[in-house]
Amino acid sequence: MQFSDLGLSEKVLRAVEKSGYTTPTPIQEQAIPHALAGRDVLGIAQTGTGKTAAFTLPMLSRLEQGRARARVPRTLILEPTRELAAQVEEAFNKYGAEHKLNVALLIGGVSFGDQEAKIMRGADVLIATPGRMLDFFERGKLLLSGIEILVIDEADRMLDMGFIPDIEKICKLVPFTRQTLFFSATMPPEITRLTEQFLHNPARVEVARAASTVETTTQVLVASHGGGDKRETLRRLLRSAEGLKNAIVFCNRKRDVGIVHKSLEKHGFPVGALHGDMDQASRMASLDAFKNGAVDILVCSDVAARGLDIPDVSHVINFDAPTHPEDYVHRIGRTGRAGRSGHAITIVTDHDAKYIAQIESLIQRQIDWDGPRLEELAAPEYVERDRERAARSGERPRRGGRGDRERSGRERTGGRKRAAEEATGPAPRETAPREHETAPRQEATRQEAPRSRRASRPAEDEPRRASRPAEDEPRRKAPRRREEDDAPVVGMGDHVPSFLLRSTRTKSVKTAE
Ligand code: AMP
Repeated sequence: MQFSDLGLSEKVLRAVEKSGYTTPTPIQEQAIPHALAGRDVLGIAQTGTGKTAAFTLPMLSRLEQGRARARVPRTLILEPTRELAAQVEEAFNKYGAEHKLNVALLIGGVSFGDQEAKIMRGADVLIATPGRMLDFFERGKLLLSGIEILVIDEADRMLDMGFIPDIEKICKLVPFTRQTLFFSATMPPEITRLTEQFLHNPARVEVARAASTVETTTQVLVASHGGGDKRETLRRLLRSAEGLKNAIVFCNRKRDVGIVHKSLEKHGFPVGALHGDMDQASRMASLDAFKNGAVDILVCSDVAARGLDIPDVSHVINFDAPTHPEDYVHRIGRTGRAGRSGHAITIVTDHDAKYIAQIESLIQRQIDWDGPRLEELAAPEYVERDRERAARSGERPRRGGRGDRERSGRERTGGRKRAAEEATGPAPRETAPREHETAPRQEATRQEAPRSRRASRPAEDEPRRASRPAEDEPRRKAPRRREEDDAPVVGMGDHVPSFLLRSTRTKSVKTAE
């Protein structure tokens, strides 16, 4: 089948030709005719399948008739993360080069002013993250009564991030007669319920199993000890992995993204970082630096795992094995794109081992070890030294190898301190925080945040409702919150303000006296 067989307009076909695409991908082939006919579409497809063009191209064709009015956008595309929203904007710029359409992007971390100006000009296409869009709507700066086409992209990611109540709300705010194009890589029950409620007789289009891992990507496990040894293993891989041109390194926690990033920087690697706590300008700068080759390594949290379309990533390295097996599929989907060969390496310590079986069960294949398996791993050098010393003196040696993480609290603290020093350079003795001093730091932030009334009022470019999740950050079930462990508290958090805890004297007490 050719693009010209799909019913797209002449302008769109010219843009497709300029992009260099010769044949439509399966999702495009199946979804575009339905979308052009005005039918709702339920697309079960992952990123990398060409699904952005599957909704962008028919939208452009349909938008050729009609004009946008100030504050009343004609179409709305909801994306779970700012990066994905920006990527869709790029797609509109590329495929819509011949259309004089106004495309507005509403994402957090960017000032309200510029975004408002674009909405006021009349947006043909509004691409938004749910929180920021609702903020605009609630402030009366945006009307949803003119929406002709609603696109909900990456719905299962929206679910992970706690955005489903916002999506439900938005679906009720847009006209009943709109067309809905709905995409999700998987169909958990919550998503099925949503589609049953808000799609009208949709054409169901399915292109690949969500749990499939890309055939062109080799996958291996590399055993390592934890702590500083794990970072050493990472450095070794970055220096010697076969065919490594560039790499995305995934950590489970934002905190570790910072540590690994600084550690690699200190060791002279050209490296950037990307996680949900960074401001938007820094996030885009990191991504651009990686895309244009200014840095070869990007250390990320899972905010970068889904959907980001960076065509030529030779390696994905899981510094931590993901705790949710489906994240593994999304992470390694960043390499081996567009038919290129890719490599996925997962570093496995004692701590990570339990997640590997779940991953293998999901992808229905065993991942080979590159080098010794975890149980064959020699004890680290310092343990060997200890053993020799102990043998000489007759003491009990420290445990090593697989018992690495069972070391005493004192040793663990030392390890963490080593990690911090490795990342930032040695701290001056008097200022280096002790373990018990670093732990409550987040608590202190919680205590301070709402102290003044002004501080608790949202800033111009922050989500208005404290109950809405910070954009891009997952907020559902407990285990998935690993990335959130070190997230800053928004609004009141769950602490009780100190003035509420202060003892008070009441009148009745006085009377009794
Ligand atoms: P997506 O799934 O939308 O993230 O698209 C993945 C990649 O496939 C993007 O780099 C697109 O530019 C590319 N792409 C989309 N449609 C086609 C096509 N018909 N032929 C070749 N590449 C395509």
